[in-house]
Amino acid sequence: MTFIEKCESKLLEKFKRIDEVAYFNQVKVLNAFNKYKIATRHFNGTTGYGYDDEGRDCLGKLYASVFGAESGIVSPHMLSGTHALTVALFGLLRPGDLMLCITGMPYDTLRGVIYGENNGSLKDFGIEFDYCNLAEGDFDFTAIREKLNKKVKIVYIQRSRGYELRDALSCKQIEDACRFVRELGFTGCIFVDNCYGEFVEKTEPSECGADLIVGSLIKNAGGGLAPTGGYICGKEEYIELIGKRLTAPSIGLEVGSYAGSYQYFYQGLFLAPHTVAQALKSSLLIGQAMSELGYKNFPSIEKMPYDITRAIQFDSADKMIDFIREVQYASPIDSYVTCEPWAMPGYDDNIIMSAGTFVSGSSIELSADGPVKPPYIVYFQGGLTYEHGKYALERILNKIK
Ligand SMILES: *Cc1c(COP(=O)(O)O)cnc(C)c1O
Repeated sequence: MTFIEKCESKLLEKFKRIDEVAYFNQVKVLNAFNKYKIATRHFNGTTGYGYDDEGRDCLGKLYASVFGAESGIVSPHMLSGTHALTVALFGLLRPGDLMLCITGMPYDTLRGVIYGENNGSLKDFGIEFDYCNLAEGDFDFTAIREKLNKKVKIVYIQRSRGYELRDALSCKQIEDACRFVRELGFTGCIFVDNCYGEFVEKTEPSECGADLIVGSLIKNAGGGLAPTGGYICGKEEYIELIGKRLTAPSIGLEVGSYAGSYQYFYQGLFLAPHTVAQALKSSLLIGQAMSELGYKNFPSIEKMPYDITRAIQFDSADKMIDFIREVQYASPIDSYVTCEPWAMPGYDDNIIMSAGTFVSGSSIELSADGPVKPPYIVYFQGGLTYEHGKYALERILNKIK
C-alpha cells in the first residue's frame, strides 16, 4: 500500500459521512429546481434595465429555497464575497448603529469596510464596531452578554476560519449563539458570513436562527462553474433593504441585466453539493497525510470539518512556499507558473497564492494561500475533483518528504 492509500484507508468512515451530506443537499437543490419549474429559458440573459429578467429573479428564489430563507439576491453584479458582505452591511446599518462581531476580528478584506479611515467605510458614516473573541473554539457567551447593548443592530458571525488559526463553527454552535442573543432580548439582524461553509452540513445558518447569510459564488455556492457573483439570503424585510442598496433606493431588485447566459449560475448551484464533497475529501486527505508527517494542521483530523479550508503550519517560509508552488504546478491552468508572494489589495501582509483555476482566483477550485510570516500557515482549499487533490498531494509529498 502506498502512503496515500494508507491515508485514504483511515478516512473511509469520514468519506461515507461526506457522501451522505452531499446526497441530502443534492436532493434539496433538486427539489428547489422542481419547485420553481426551472427551464432552459431561465438561462437567457437580458440587456439594458433588465426588467422582468426571469433568470435573475428565479436564481434568487432558488438560493433562498435551498438555504431555507424567505428571500434572496443572487447577482453577477456582486463581484465577490467581500462585495456581497459590504452591500448587505451598508444596506442594513444606519449612523449611530453598532455592529457587534462575536467571532473575533472579521475576515481581512472586511476590516477596511468596517473601520477604514476616510475610505467610505461604515465608520466614516458614523457606524460603530465592536467584537468579542472566541473562547477555545466556541462563542464567549460571557463577553457577548457584556457587549450586547441597545445600539447593536447587527450581530455578526463569521462561520469559516478566514486567515485565523481557529476552526469553522458548526451550525449547531451558530444555532446556540442565535438562541443566546435572542434570549438576551436582541431584536436586530443576526448576520452570517457564510463563505466556505455552504453545503458542508445538511443545514445552513439561515435554517438555524440566523436572519441573513452572505457568500461568494467564486467559492462553494458557485459549484466551480459560476463565473463571478455573490448571494445574500434571508428575511424578506432585510433583502428588500439590501436590494435598494445594491441598485438604488428608488429601484430595488426589479432592475439589473446580465447579457451573458445564467446557465453556469444554475448549473453551478446544481453541482455545488457534489463539488463541496470533493473539496472536503481533498482537505481530509491532505490533512491526514500532513498529520502523519508531523505537520500541525486544522481542523483536527479527528474531527469532521465544518468548512472546506484547511490550515497547515510549516516551520519555515521556504517549506510554505514549496507547498503552495506544488499546488500551482498540479493545476490545470497556469501550471508552468511559479508563485511569488505579493501585496494583494485588501490584505495587510504579503500573500502567496496559488490559483491555477478556470474561474480566475476561484477557491472552490484547488488552491492554497497564506501570508508569508510566522507562524507560516498555508490555507488550503477546494478541488473540483478528489482526484485532483490527490495528485497535488502526491507532488507535495515528493517535494517535501
Ligand atoms: C473568502 C472570504 C471572504 C471574502 O470573499 P471574496 O470572494 O474573496 O471577496 C469573506 N469571508 C470569509 C470567511 C472568506 O473566507
